[in-house]
Amino acid sequence: EVRTRFAPSPTGYMHIGNLRTALYTWLIARHQGGKFILRIEDTDQERFVEGATEVIYKTLRQCGLDWDEGPDLGGPVGPYVQTERRDLYGRYAELLIERGHAYRCFCTKERLDSLHGEDGLGGYDGCCRKLSAAEIDEKLAAGVPYVIRQKIPAEGQTTFHDVVFGDITVENATLDDQVLIKSDGLPTYNFANVVDDHLMGITHVVRGSEYLSSAPKYNLLYEGFGWAVPTYVHCSPVMRDAHNKMSKRHGDPSYQDLIAQGYLSEAVENYVTLLGWSPRGEYAEREFFTLSELAEIFDIGGISKSPAVFDIEKLRYFNANYLRSMSPEDFYAGAESYLREAVRTPGIDLRLIAPLVQPRCDTWLDIAPQVDFFDALRSYSNELYCHKKMKTDEANSLEALKLVLPVLEGLGEWSYDAIHDALIGLAEQNGLKNGRIMWPVRTALSGKAVTPGGAVEICHILGRDETLRRIRRGME
Ligand code: GLU
Repeated sequence: EVRTRFAPSPTGYMHIGNLRTALYTWLIARHQGGKFILRIEDTDQERFVEGATEVIYKTLRQCGLDWDEGPDLGGPVGPYVQTERRDLYGRYAELLIERGHAYRCFCTKERLDSLHGEDGLGGYDGCCRKLSAAEIDEKLAAGVPYVIRQKIPAEGQTTFHDVVFGDITVENATLDDQVLIKSDGLPTYNFANVVDDHLMGITHVVRGSEYLSSAPKYNLLYEGFGWAVPTYVHCSPVMRDAHNKMSKRHGDPSYQDLIAQGYLSEAVENYVTLLGWSPRGEYAEREFFTLSELAEIFDIGGISKSPAVFDIEKLRYFNANYLRSMSPEDFYAGAESYLREAVRTPGIDLRLIAPLVQPRCDTWLDIAPQVDFFDALRSYSNELYCHKKMKTDEANSLEALKLVLPVLEGLGEWSYDAIHDALIGLAEQNGLKNGRIMWPVRTALSGKAVTPGGAVEICHILGRDETLRRIRRGME
C-alpha cells in the first residue's frame, strides 16, 4: 500500500512551495488509493511558533487535503509529533552505534568552531571516531555532554535514485559526519526524518529539492539500519523569478496571504499543482481541474525537474475563471462578506449586486471598489457627463435629467421593468437615442464612468428615495 506523508515544521504559515509539496504528496496517495499521513516536525525548538500546528490543520482543511493519520486523528504508528517521539530517536541512535554507523562526539563548541575556519565550511574531522571504549565510558561517567554523529564511510561512493532527478552518485569523502542527536537529546531533522519515515511505513518521500544533497546521507542511514530505502520524489523549487526562490522574507505571498488577497483556495491549488507538474495524454492541453480530477490523473512521471516561476498574473487568470464559473448561489455565498463590508446602507439588496460583479472580478478584493458607490457617492463631477459615443455633454445631460426626474418621481411600482420601460419610453418620446438618457442617469447615480450594471439596475438597487436624491444632486 502506498503511504505518503506531509511533514511540515510549525512555522505559522504555508509557503507556496510547501503547499505544492502537500498537494503532490496528497495526490500521489489519493491517486493510488493509499494513505496520506500528517507528521509535525517540531524538533527545532528555536523555530517553534505558538499555535502554528493549528495553522497547519486549518490550512490543510481549507485546501481539502484530508489526512488519514495524524496528531489529532492518531493511527497505528503514532505519535505523529516528533517531540512526542523523543525517546525513540535516542534508542535508534544507540542501535546505529551498535551497528557501527554512528558514534558519540564529545568535542567542545570551541574545538568545532576552530575546525570550520574562516569560510565557515569544512566538516567535522572525525576526531571522536578514534575514542576507545574506555575513554568513552570515562567521559560518560564524568557527564561530558555529547552529540551522536553519523559515521560516513571514508571511501567509496553512494548512489541513490530519485524519481524526478534520476540516479545521483556522490563520493562518500564529500559527506560530513552529520549530527544525528543533539546534546539536548533531540534528533536533528536529518535523523528524525529517516527513522520516522521507516517506522511510519512511508513508501514515497515527497519533498523539496533542497534536501537532495542530504539524500546520500539518508541513504547511508537506511543502509546502516538495514532498512529498505523509500521512493524519493524531490521537487524543484517554486521561483519568484528566473534566479530566486519564492521567499516570505522578500515579500512573496504565502498561501494565507493569497487567501487574504481574495483568491479562492481551489484556484490557488489548481494553479500551484501545475507549477512543476503537467498532465499528459488526453489532458495535456487542459488547465482547469478540480482536486478530485487531479487525484484521478496525477502521475509522478509528470513532475518536472526544472524550477517553475510563480506568476501572480497567471493565478489571477485562474482565479477569474473560477469566480466566473461559480453558480450564482456559490458566488453570492463567497461574495457576501466583501459586499457587506463595502455597502453598509441598510435596505440595499446585496443579492441584486452580486450577479452584476460576478463577471467583473478577478479576486474577491475587486468587488469593493466597484460597488462602493451603492453605499455613498464618493466623488462626483459633471465632466463625467461628456461621452463622445453617447453624444452627451454637460448641457444635454442636465436637460435629460430634468426630463427623467418627474418620470421617476411619478413611477408607481419601483421594479426593474417599470424603471426600464419608463426610461426607454422617455427616450422614445423625445426622439433621443437611449444613451442620451441612460448615460447621465448612470453617472449621476454612481459618480463613475464604469459601473457594474447600467442605469436601470442601479436605480432599482438604490431604491426610489436615494435615486431621486442623487438625480437632483446631479442636476446642480
Ligand atoms: N520539516 C521539513 C520541512 O518543513 C520536511 C521535509 C520533508 O518533507 O522531509 O521542510
